[in-house]
Amino acid sequence: MSTKPATVGLHPCPECGANLEWNAAKQALVCPYCGTTASWQPGSSDGSGAGEVLEQDLEAALRDPRNQRGWSAQRREVQCQNCHAISVFTDGRVAQRCDFCGSPAIVAHEAFDDAITPQSILPFKISHAQVRDRVRKWYGSRWFAPNQLKASALTDTLKGIYVPYWTFDAHAQARWRADAGHYYYTTQTYRDANGQTQTRQVQQVRWVPAAGEVRHFFDDDLVPGTVGVPLALVRKIEPFPTTTNLVPYSPEYVRGWTVERYQVDLRQAASVSEQQMQQQLRALCAARVPGDTYRNLVVDAQYQGRTFKHILVPVWLISYTFGKKSFQIVANGYTGQIAGKQPYSWVKITLAATAALVLVGVLLMYWGR
Ligand SMILES: [Zn+2]
Ligand SMILES: [Zn+2]
Repeated sequence: MSTKPATVGLHPCPECGANLEWNAAKQALVCPYCGTTASWQPGSSDGSGAGEVLEQDLEAALRDPRNQRGWSAQRREVQCQNCHAISVFTDGRVAQRCDFCGSPAIVAHEAFDDAITPQSILPFKISHAQVRDRVRKWYGSRWFAPNQLKASALTDTLKGIYVPYWTFDAHAQARWRADAGHYYYTTQTYRDANGQTQTRQVQQVRWVPAAGEVRHFFDDDLVPGTVGVPLALVRKIEPFPTTTNLVPYSPEYVRGWTVERYQVDLRQAASVSEQQMQQQLRALCAARVPGDTYRNLVVDAQYQGRTFKHILVPVWLISYTFGKKSFQIVANGYTGQIAGKQPYSWVKITLAATAALVLVGVLLMYWGR
């Protein structure tokens, strides 16, 4: 078990001594006060950023859970009593409110040395200004949204959070068997309403047993480990380009940002991933069944070389209140993809519905003549 000392405090601003932060727009460590850009390059600090993005053996990690553990002892964790999200701070910051739900009810969470260190990270690329711009456009593109909504892009709250994810790789080999159905048509005679004999074509299915084998390599199957961001929303801003753009974890990337600690553990995540893979394999096998349709599909899958990574991905969390309700929007901090909830304008919906009814009325009158 290797416990690396946290690199807290290693990067004071050379001009004013303030703490440098990871700047998404400049892709560098920048001083939030005087704007000085540090010369830090990934991998140049203490070697912890050097190297490659490595996959970890899944079976070994499940057998010996203490392997891979030992996240920097200098981190501090707080848990929100309202939404239960756990935030991790490695840069000495102290939070007053929960970054996920805004609640002030946060308490220290005892940071047992049981957390698996993030092995790689997708650094923030979409900046504060860029995400504001995109959210404003998103508001504008919503159907039936109240007109005032666009203005709220200026009053909402915006938080950049590194969200925990698990990725899984596996070589899958699946044997399948099924009944392949081939359509054919027979001619049927029947009597119509006037008592006349008529013929028609009727579809029939000829069932033939079929079997085969499918091999597939799953690369970075994603499972979220978050509780702070609604699962339904975070799944809509996937994918995160993990197979091409991950970099080895280095604490510099999270300076000035909030990091969420995972609460879906490796074992749970591995089982979610297996279900996801099983579903995809079933679809792949189904596509191989010859003929026009199939039934009784049985898939027997074997997985080999299963590996995983614990990673952090960038998510912008936007919350705004409209009237008395509050709404949440999330944006992928790398691709800019947005998903969220919106209020509806009943005036607009009623107008549209009325317009549709009038149109139907006009068409009926036209056809009725
Ligand atoms: Zn400075
Ligand atoms: Zn909260």
